[in-house]
Amino acid sequence: MSRKLLCWILAFLTVSNHSLIADICCETEKCPAIALLLMGPPGGGKGVQSKILSAKYGWPQISTGDLLRQQIKDCTELGLKVENLTKSGQLVPDSIILDMIFERIQQPDCQKGFILDGCPRTLVQGQLLDQHFQSHHIKTVVLVLDVPDEQIKERLLHRIVCEKCGTPYHTKTLPPKQEGICDRCQGNVIKRPDDSDAIISDRLKIYHQQTEPLFEFYSSKGYLTRIDGTLSKEEVSEKIEQVLTHYTCETTCQ
Ligand SMILES: [Zn+2]
Repeated sequence: MSRKLLCWILAFLTVSNHSLIADICCETEKCPAIALLLMGPPGGGKGVQSKILSAKYGWPQISTGDLLRQQIKDCTELGLKVENLTKSGQLVPDSIILDMIFERIQQPDCQKGFILDGCPRTLVQGQLLDQHFQSHHIKTVVLVLDVPDEQIKERLLHRIVCEKCGTPYHTKTLPPKQEGICDRCQGNVIKRPDDSDAIISDRLKIYHQQTEPLFEFYSSKGYLTRIDGTLSKEEVSEKIEQVLTHYTCETTCQ
């Protein structure tokens, strides 16, 4: 019997109890977990939006950088391998990064969804992720925050961040209330050394060369939605939520 038909029969049998119907339908038509891939240029607002979404939906924010640092801190076999690679200036291979992600998303807090931060960066990573997600019935949603290079440079050159909690500020448009001191945690607000003109230009070049080819791949699969990242933080987050309403459990169960 199809799940839809079962839901209809249950609906007729228990007309008086709407919540029961919803529960049974949701149980029967199990909602897939959502892999939310927020993409866009460095400094395009991915970090800020990830935090907002994570708080709203309860999906953990999974950063490959954090995962690598944790492995090194815990002195795991993988951590030692990664440490040796980075010390000798080599890149961490895709297989290591992906294995770490696959292990992380098996944890119970990822059952409904998770937000990937900093991965995939290349087409190969994207294809491997897609294979894994498809075979594990995880629904991929890709959102690209579009911001032109000139605006990125303007944002990053004036960006200052809290050393302690990572809250970003902007020297012109969003300075901390007290100069050099974080509004949230009283930590020191500093300019990151990698927010210099030359380094920003390099990072944008790598983004255009390596990450942008992924958009065609995701677009051909129907996963991708582009969002105007030049809008205010609130407007961007509203647009993201509009896209996500198509994928949430309630929508698929009704
Ligand atoms: Zn702070």
